[in-house]
Amino acid sequence: MERLIYAADVVYNGVGLPLEQAGVAVSVVEGTQTILGFAKLEMLQVQFPEARVQRLGRVILPRPVNAHTHLDLSSVPFKALPYPRWIPEHVMQNMALRGLEAAKIGLNHLKNSGIGAFGDIVAREEVMDFLLTQTDLPGVAYWEVLSADPSKADEIMTATVERVRRWRKLERQVKLGLSPHTPFTVSSKLLQRLAEFARLEGLPLQIHVSEHPSELELFKTGTGALTAFLKNVNAPPLETSWGRTPSPALSPIKYLAELRVLEAKPTLIHAVNVSEEDVRIIAQYGCTVVSCPRSNEALECGSIPWKLFAKHGVELALGTDSSASGGSLDIREEASAALRLLEVDLKQVVRWVVKGGYRALGLKPPVVQRGDLFSSLTVWE
Ligand SMILES: [Zn+2]
Repeated sequence: MERLIYAADVVYNGVGLPLEQAGVAVSVVEGTQTILGFAKLEMLQVQFPEARVQRLGRVILPRPVNAHTHLDLSSVPFKALPYPRWIPEHVMQNMALRGLEAAKIGLNHLKNSGIGAFGDIVAREEVMDFLLTQTDLPGVAYWEVLSADPSKADEIMTATVERVRRWRKLERQVKLGLSPHTPFTVSSKLLQRLAEFARLEGLPLQIHVSEHPSELELFKTGTGALTAFLKNVNAPPLETSWGRTPSPALSPIKYLAELRVLEAKPTLIHAVNVSEEDVRIIAQYGCTVVSCPRSNEALECGSIPWKLFAKHGVELALGTDSSASGGSLDIREEASAALRLLEVDLKQVVRWVVKGGYRALGLKPPVVQRGDLFSSLTVWE
């Protein structure tokens, strides 16, 4: 039997905070590597003086999570544009590239990036069928619902319930979820019904919210760049869609709280343009937030005030968003971007991609312990 200590800048086993300048001690018997313990490097060297130290890379961690993707956009090229222009001028112009083939390509990229789970927004039925039945990677596939017209809410809700009934029978490794697109592209009537249905069915939810400054402007004044976008997609007047008027005291988060959507504990995507009051509300409802720093940079959304979320005890996760706005589906590249863009340390980012990621999807975060195989961990070079 041989003993080894694998060392890295940061080591995490899923418990507490990641350790800096730490290691994993392993015993090697006939090629099988079994974990003996995790600790700061100097402590491991005292505990296992005979063990050879081998530096493996920057981080040793359980398989991380990419908590927010749009796999069906994987064939749409990357483009940086302000958010209010990105959907109409880029996504809508490339609709023909969207679909199952793109989702399959995206899923392969995800698998090659060494993740343990993923959360994907699904806009096509054939993509949902594929993800639920053909994928071995654990995750959640959130069916996207989008309609700002409350007169269509009943019809869309009936169709959604029918789909959910069918898809729930297909769930294996990938679980079914729902994603009302944003607070301004789904009518208040439909938002409330979707949230209530999700709560009763135990379905996880993801909602894009407070992504770009123009979204905040829309809720406060009813003006700004998003009004042109809404007109373009023939959305009804805001008062009709929301059942209320914009107000300087309002924010997208407060609106979701007012509609009791937050009672269904949706995972909130982006939450870049939020006040401390918004963060307090998010904390009060126990929602998790997924940040996509590269996408936020490309679409000129700003940077997530992560310290405010940390202050109020809100769990954060990372996602790449689509490769068309994030650049790739590789969570390691998103983690590097977080370090560059958010003035955050590696320990924090590692916690986000592991514990935060699994919690964002409603999955149990992994805990790797003494006696487990070293192969249950992964290494970031
Ligand atoms: Zn997204």
